[in-house]
Amino acid sequence: MALIVQKYGGTSVGNPERIKNVAKRVAKFTAQGHQVVVVVSAMSGETNKLIALAKEVQPNPDPRELDQICSTGEQVTIGLLSMALKNIGIPARSYTGGQVKVLTDSTFTKARILSIDETNMRRDLDAGMVVVVAGFQGVDADGNITTLGRGGSDTSGVALAAALKADECQIYTDVDGVYTTDPRVVPEAKKLDTITFEEMLEMASLGSKVLQIRSVEFAGKYKVKLRVLSSFQDEGEGTLITVEEDKNMEQPIISGIAFNRDEAKLTMLGVPDTPGIAYQILGSIAEANIDVDMIIQNVGHDGTTDFSFTVNRGDFAKAQAILETIKVQLGAREVTGDNKICKVSAVGVGMRSHPGVASKMFKALADESINIQMISTSEIKISVVLDEKYLELAVRVLHRTFGLDQ
Ligand code: ASP
Ligand code: MG
Repeated sequence: MALIVQKYGGTSVGNPERIKNVAKRVAKFTAQGHQVVVVVSAMSGETNKLIALAKEVQPNPDPRELDQICSTGEQVTIGLLSMALKNIGIPARSYTGGQVKVLTDSTFTKARILSIDETNMRRDLDAGMVVVVAGFQGVDADGNITTLGRGGSDTSGVALAAALKADECQIYTDVDGVYTTDPRVVPEAKKLDTITFEEMLEMASLGSKVLQIRSVEFAGKYKVKLRVLSSFQDEGEGTLITVEEDKNMEQPIISGIAFNRDEAKLTMLGVPDTPGIAYQILGSIAEANIDVDMIIQNVGHDGTTDFSFTVNRGDFAKAQAILETIKVQLGAREVTGDNKICKVSAVGVGMRSHPGVASKMFKALADESINIQMISTSEIKISVVLDEKYLELAVRVLHRTFGLDQ
């Protein structure tokens, strides 16, 4: 007998028929003698609707009241799923985050979980019930309802699994696992049987949006066995996200090719090459709450240098305006920018022990006459910035170069 936490996303509970199917899947596990805690999202589209509704009344919604409103989406699905379970003879009980209780801080709309009380859940599980918990929400020390940020039900699932020391946390979604790259760009993309937390974090933060990033961090930290599976297929093991690379297995050097279209690049040309320049440029950007990704400062000549960095495309105009202002103060020559760039990355823990990955990657791009504008690396990732018109080509070529379509 195992204790399993299953999380079902919005599309998996998108209508009554699908909710009944979730109940049937849960029943398969209880029939095998397992204890099951189910975490559900709101029905697909529901959270968006609630936010839009709030904005019709208050264009810049009060965060506390917004959480009050948004948390209701999940309150509907826990009730419906519990009914669906009871309907097929499975004892079940639903809980909101507050009823569990999932204690969070008071940062409305992006609260962090502080602790989870297992008492109610343990009692019900021991009595042979399925426990159905609302994802995405908790309660603060003053009893206010909080939510965990968009996609937060993944984090709820993982946090409950960690608190209950569950044997496995299964995330059911509309894809059957984590792929070597987006199958819409490369039809030959393959589902991975396993991927490490580190790789998954890189893939997720680079735009492979299967899981909320926070849930992956959480699972890595608390060593929760995490599996991504399809709720629309009966067979299949999905993708297991592991704590460590399996030393006994023949590991591929590269596990996946991630990409992100939403990038923009800014360059300050002819900046005086003196101490404090990077701080003055990036400090003003940080003050405006703009996230910076890649940073490049060229070797100076004639006492000046060029300074480039990338930001989310949505922050491009704002960042450009800031640079234009500080250009004058710094005595820099010119500000240039390009918001038609993309980032493509090869990710794999195998590159730690295999040199030559970068040169192989650069040669593959050169053979296609794709110009690399910026490069950055970490221990398990090599990223390049390219003109966005090369995105699909670059992803396809790299996917093939590293043998991921084999
Ligand atoms: N319903 C919430 C959202 O749409 C939480 C979730 O689905 O994970 O963001
Ligand atoms: Mg989701």
